[in-house]
Amino acid sequence: MRQRMTGTLPSDIDVLIVGAGIAGASLAAELAPHRRVLMIEAEDSPGYHATGRSAAFWQESYGGVGVQPLTAASFDTLA
Ligand SMILES: Cc1cc2nc3c(=O)[nH]c(=O)nc-3n(C[C@H](O)[C@H](O)[C@H](O)COP(=O)(O)OP(=O)(O)OC[C@H]3O[C@@H](n4cnc5c(N)ncnc54)[C@H](O)[C@@H]3O)c2cc1C
Repeated sequence: MRQRMTGTLPSDIDVLIVGAGIAGASLAAELAPHRRVLMIEAEDSPGYHATGRSAAFWQESYGGVGVQPLTAASFDTLA
């Protein structure tokens, strides 16, 4: 459910995710069945920045040393 936030964060959440790009949205999707998740986004719509510009091309060597293992691990999910 989309809501504009005002004031303080709700107290009945377990996980706060800042940013509704692919990273935040993926994490929220994984955690939501197990935890009470709140995802917040600064823009009016999710995926507005890098995620919305992605060509959605999967390449194992993409990114630096911190990203490449995550890319490789995502293969089975995306294949
Ligand atoms: C032109 C282009 C093409 C690309 N093509 C590919 C490709 O083919 N394959 C590939 O693997 N990758 C590609 N990429 C890279 C890929 O798009 C990014 O690595 C990925 O989308 C990053 O996702 P993210 O969720 O980390 O960041 P973002 O998509 O930038 O999401 C972060 C979100 O957090 C929000 N945010 C930030 N700070 C706050 C705050 N304080 N409060 C609330 N919200 C906040 C932002 O508004 C944004 O929506 C491409 C990138 C570009 C620009």
